[in-house]
Amino acid sequence: MEPIIQEIEVKSILTKSNLPVSDYSVNPYVGCTHNCRYCYASFMKRFTGHPEPWGTFLDVKYWPEICRPERYAGKELFIGSVTDPYLPQEETFGRTRALLEQLVGSGARISIATKSDLVLRDLELIKTFPDARVSWSVNTLDEIFKNDMDNAVSIERRLAAMKTFHDAGVRTTCFVSPIFPGITDVKAIIDRVKGQCNLIWLENLNLRGNYKTVIMNYIQEKYPQLLPLYQEIYHEGNRTYWELLDGELKRYAAEIGLDYVTNDDSMKRSFDAPPVIVNYFYHEQIKKSARKDRDSRA
Ligand code: SF4
Repeated sequence: MEPIIQEIEVKSILTKSNLPVSDYSVNPYVGCTHNCRYCYASFMKRFTGHPEPWGTFLDVKYWPEICRPERYAGKELFIGSVTDPYLPQEETFGRTRALLEQLVGSGARISIATKSDLVLRDLELIKTFPDARVSWSVNTLDEIFKNDMDNAVSIERRLAAMKTFHDAGVRTTCFVSPIFPGITDVKAIIDRVKGQCNLIWLENLNLRGNYKTVIMNYIQEKYPQLLPLYQEIYHEGNRTYWELLDGELKRYAAEIGLDYVTNDDSMKRSFDAPPVIVNYFYHEQIKKSARKDRDSRA
């Protein structure tokens, strides 16, 4: 089904952020046609005025030219906190490209989060930003599971894009998120990406809000053997699975010579250093920031 697309005007495109990793969040679109079943940003729907389900609509933002972009010099801009800036529609509307063109030469430090390889189009532009970082979400190497979960490009295309950026000297992150208990093979993903990224973020699957039922039903249908585990974690609040996984990954990181930490210090490390593995939990902060993003809309 084709998404419902409308073009909207907003007062500004940069929103002060509460995220620990950025000063501003930037979302060139409202909505996200990747339509991940576990979308942490789907709570945004109630602020959009759209009656349609999340994932089936997209508002394309137009904003006044960013004035005095140099005032963002040294500031951290997180592009894509509640949408993907490289949705297929970006090919037509080019709003992320327009954003980068307005900021180029400003000295802003950008961080882009995507599940797409369309970002390759902007590689040369992104390279001009100081300490630019691009992250791809990869929570499986199984394309069947991936296809069950989202409409974005294949895992192989994401990994190929990550490698191209890394080879071009841009810092890359593999965002292993969300980790599905019993399904996401974290070690296999680490093995696959450790030569082409600077940071490996690990984030566990949180099941809150509307998508809890969607995911539990999916597990019941496709992975019934895992249902007792999911019930234990998501109905009874048992954290043993995560504690064991944490210990196992710590030992694995030591075995393969990677640092395993809780605070991201990757920017302090040289580009050529092995990637650092970080446990990273920030759903709540994203929600707060997204609320502010909503308030900036016209
Ligand atoms: S890419 Fe991110 S914002 Fe888009 S649907 Fe998936 S989880 Fe939601």
